[in-house]
Amino acid sequence: MHEHSLIANLLSRIDAIACQHSAKRVVGVSVWIGALAHISAGHFREHFEDGSRGSLAQGARLDIEVSDDPEHPQAQDILLRSIEVV
Ligand SMILES: [Zn+2]
Repeated sequence: MHEHSLIANLLSRIDAIACQHSAKRVVGVSVWIGALAHISAGHFREHFEDGSRGSLAQGARLDIEVSDDPEHPQAQDILLRSIEVV
């Protein structure tokens, strides 16, 4: 499904960024979910928790904003806003 590839892509980018920073752990992740990405914050959280198990991002605090603007140029996407590493 569309949402699953978006989440897999997001998790691999988080991993790559964490590696670049020689991070021990990802403690926070901030994402923006487009109005047409068809995923709720709760559902995203479930997928994130599943997908990040065993990775540096396991247990990270999630800050999720769900957009209600279908006209946004990235309304179909899930955007990574920032991550916080230690
Ligand atoms: Zn799903």
